Amino acid sequence: MRVLRVALDVPLPRLFDYALPEGLVAEAGDRVVVPFGSRQRVGVVVERAARSEIPAAKLKSVIGVRDDAPRLSADWLELMRFLAGYYQRPLGETVISSLPPRLRSLLPLPRDPEPFYRRADAAAQPEALRAGRKRALLEALHGGARSAEALLGALGGKRSAARAALRELLRAGRIEACAPQAGTRFVVGHELSAQQQAAFARIDAAQNNFRPFLLHGVTGSGKTEVYLHLAAGVLARGAQALILVPEIGLTPQLEARFRHAFPEARIAVMHSALEDATRTAAWLAAARGEAGIVLGTRLAVLAPLPRLGLVVVDEEHDTSFKQQEGLRYSGRDAAVVRAKLAGCPVVLGTATPSLETWFNCRAGRYELLELRHRASPGALMPAVRIVDLRREAAEQGLSPSLSAAIGERLARGEQSLVFINRRGYAPVLACEACGWAAGCARCSARMVLHSADRRLHCHHCGAEQPIPRACPTCGNADLRAVGRGTQRVEETLAASFPGARIVRIDRDSARRRSELTRTLAGIRDGAADILVGTQLLAKGHDFPQLTLVGVLNADSALVSTDYRAAERLFATLEQVAGRAGRRERPGEVLVQTRYPEHPLFAALVRHDYAGFAASQLAEREAAGFPPFVSEAALRAEARQLDTVMAFLRHAAGLLPTPEEVRIYDPVPSVITRRADYERARLLVQSRSRPALQAFLAAWREALDDAAPKGLRWHLDVDPIEFD
Ligand code: ADP
Ligand code: ZN
Ligand code: ZN
Repeated sequence: MRVLRVALDVPLPRLFDYALPEGLVAEAGDRVVVPFGSRQRVGVVVERAARSEIPAAKLKSVIGVRDDAPRLSADWLELMRFLAGYYQRPLGETVISSLPPRLRSLLPLPRDPEPFYRRADAAAQPEALRAGRKRALLEALHGGARSAEALLGALGGKRSAARAALRELLRAGRIEACAPQAGTRFVVGHELSAQQQAAFARIDAAQNNFRPFLLHGVTGSGKTEVYLHLAAGVLARGAQALILVPEIGLTPQLEARFRHAFPEARIAVMHSALEDATRTAAWLAAARGEAGIVLGTRLAVLAPLPRLGLVVVDEEHDTSFKQQEGLRYSGRDAAVVRAKLAGCPVVLGTATPSLETWFNCRAGRYELLELRHRASPGALMPAVRIVDLRREAAEQGLSPSLSAAIGERLARGEQSLVFINRRGYAPVLACEACGWAAGCARCSARMVLHSADRRLHCHHCGAEQPIPRACPTCGNADLRAVGRGTQRVEETLAASFPGARIVRIDRDSARRRSELTRTLAGIRDGAADILVGTQLLAKGHDFPQLTLVGVLNADSALVSTDYRAAERLFATLEQVAGRAGRRERPGEVLVQTRYPEHPLFAALVRHDYAGFAASQLAEREAAGFPPFVSEAALRAEARQLDTVMAFLRHAAGLLPTPEEVRIYDPVPSVITRRADYERARLLVQSRSRPALQAFLAAWREALDDAAPKGLRWHLDVDPIEFD
């Protein structure tokens, strides 16, 4: 008998056996239609077997085989097996959750998504038209067919207007749709400098071999330019390049650069905010090998890429690469595995490598390539000044030094960025008479005061409520907003610099992606004098007129109990500092702190990542933290903290602990209650990764039976968050 083991989109942690009837052909990697309960479903064949443990009479048969998408390759299934094993999740769930929803539904797949256009005939001369959008479109088609995306992008301006012009040309018969073309023409933006060329040559020489590189380049050193040159080689060889970025917000500008550099290539963009049809289309273009460039957030690493020739992970240190639910994989680590399976080079690029990656370089597992200078002619690294808040009294959070520096920039028509990593107006609303502070009813956390809607928000569970008129405990009507977030800083700046154009960028102001993209473009064009923002502004952006960065509250991370806090703070500060002075005009960074003598700042002033990393690694080694040990967390949550703690204590003793493995005592999470669930975790460590892996696999099965009703738990391998 021919038996197929099938992964299905159902909440049961196993594969399902089906008989393959005579006349049907199906291999591992095919999508099949099968009966499940009273319905039909689409599943993925993970493997074939000669027999099943289910009696033949009860074994149901496959109904049909879907051939509208390419068969998932053995390589891809291998990647799934690795991820399921390493991150301790069921294989079926891993396979299913890695596919766009459409691929696991009974709906037909969309037709070719990305239309290409070409001039209808040679007579369709642009000169025949008045200067304007339509003429620009025809001119853009001079070199041959181009995709709608590339065309609209080339035109710039309002997309709806560009689209309308395109439609009119179509209706007038001047242009026509055609099959997708994959040209490899490369429009060189900059010839590589000597340091870029050296890095490029090392990576390019590895083209048909698995080799991991760390491209450690200071902010603005031209790493992206190196990726573009590498991608050009990959396209010319007929292979595919996979480019990963940590956040959706960074995809539009990178996509624009790639489309500009490769006007004829098919570029598939993948991230979680795409509409179903668009996402499916991008996935198909990648899986069929038609897209030469696949660009996206971590989930793009899960797309099948039959001709993969290069993997790039930009901003590899960014914690957004780690998925925080379901399959808790690291997109960066998966990318390295991916390159290994495909036998191609992988480039991890960043100005501030994660200590794990730096350690891998030190150990000789990754090759280190350095870009020490900024690429743009005349651009220098920004000067960093530490402002001692014990000597200079800040007014409403702004020190006199910072205020003066902003004033100078305004006078010179340059931009300033004020960085504060907290959104809202004030993190605490308190009563000074009795000490009451507004807390969330569902979380062990304070409510944050927001001025835009004049309400209190919980940043942990999303709860909202009106601002109370008086203290609920003592009736005092004089409640105080304590501390500050972006909204309050915006208010202060508006009062200090009347007339200045101030733009605030945080998750509240940037609810809609299209809006954010437009705002960022406006800033690049000079439509703002002062930017106030969180992390969202720190990463990757290139604002030519920005010459000053002020950092308001860096100190909380310095006193954190999380051993990764310093690493993250250094990366954030170096990143945000990296926004300043990216062109001829020099940049300056002012960091306000009460701990000016902290060694982290000394390293920051010298832009000395290596020195900082060395001291951090020494501390980690002494304390027995990663990357010197491997870690996993067992997290649990339930309505009662007692239930959670009892489960974790029981879990710790479920199996005899192997000698190389160490299990720590359970501890409640920092925000113990979130959305009415009490949460705690326990940590497992080992100097031997295989020993840890073997223990986790056995432990997971035992835990399945040990968990009481109403308690949720999961394992997180290589955890990075301890909130
Ligand atoms: P990174 O990715 O390291 O932040 P980018 O590739 O974005 O750096 O380059 C920073 C700036 O320098 C960009 O404006 C880019 O156009 C410019 N640039 C990059 N490479 C060169 C080069 N070889 N010559 C001149 N300018 C360059
Ligand atoms: Zn009170
Ligand atoms: Zn809450």
